[in-house]
Amino acid sequence: MSPPVFRFAPSPNGYLHLGHALSALLNAEMARAKGGRLLLRIEDIDTARCRPEYEAAIYDDLAWLGLQWESPVWRQSEHWDNYRAALTKLEAMGLVYPSFETRAEIGRLVAAREAQGVWPRDPDGAPLYPGSAKTMVNGERGRRMQFGEPYALRLDLPAALARVGALTWAETGAGPAGETGNIAADPAAWGDVILARKETPTSYHLAVVVDDAAQGITDVVRGSDLFYATAVHRLLQTLLNLPQPRYHHHRLILDADGNKLSKSTQSTGLRELRAQGVSPAEIRRLVGLD
Ligand code: GLU
Repeated sequence: MSPPVFRFAPSPNGYLHLGHALSALLNAEMARAKGGRLLLRIEDIDTARCRPEYEAAIYDDLAWLGLQWESPVWRQSEHWDNYRAALTKLEAMGLVYPSFETRAEIGRLVAAREAQGVWPRDPDGAPLYPGSAKTMVNGERGRRMQFGEPYALRLDLPAALARVGALTWAETGAGPAGETGNIAADPAAWGDVILARKETPTSYHLAVVVDDAAQGITDVVRGSDLFYATAVHRLLQTLLNLPQPRYHHHRLILDADGNKLSKSTQSTGLRELRAQGVSPAEIRRLVGLD
């Protein structure tokens, strides 16, 4: 039997903090305990926010923590063709449509819906897509795309759900409400998610499932802030006929006010802590691993 394959998948849009340290160290520990491999994936599809110096800092900070990973490192910005191919597959199944509303227009539509009652929000608290682009006739779509209007390509969620049965995943960690074991996935809670944009041929959701499959990932170990998004990942895996990894969502490290850590602050950034003389062994203690 081939060994299990784990991955740590940071985005180089800031410096790593204690939350990343917990994730990276847990991946390394679980890989070691199971005789598995550890891969590093640089999630750099957001070209506006990702920077080479942050990527260099990721290698530096992880090496300082004592982590070892395989080379070459998988960088998402080198795999646009894979994401485009997956998108084309979903398009051929009739599951993708372009929407043209700006963020401001979406905000106005949501406000109008909310004035009439409750408008649903996704598990991250963002309102579901309120627009009517799905019913736009093809000629109009083509014309607007041809005129160079910005657009987002969305998954037609009801149509996608009609193609799959009940979706579940095996969870060995826990969700925000303590969910563990065999989890019933609820992708409908996310509405018609964005799969790509005019200038970016993939979203996080699409890239993560395509890459987990391409890299042969068997075990996804990541923060519980991504627990509910796993439902979208299971749906995309099923539609694209990709294998299903095991999932282990771990607790988040919170700041003194109980909020999720943002990229690099004085008290929790790995670079800052290191500059203050904190050792890797102390980092392990700080994230509650010893
Ligand atoms: N790139 C994501 C992050 O830095 C992690 C994605 C994942 O592990 O699926 O939060």
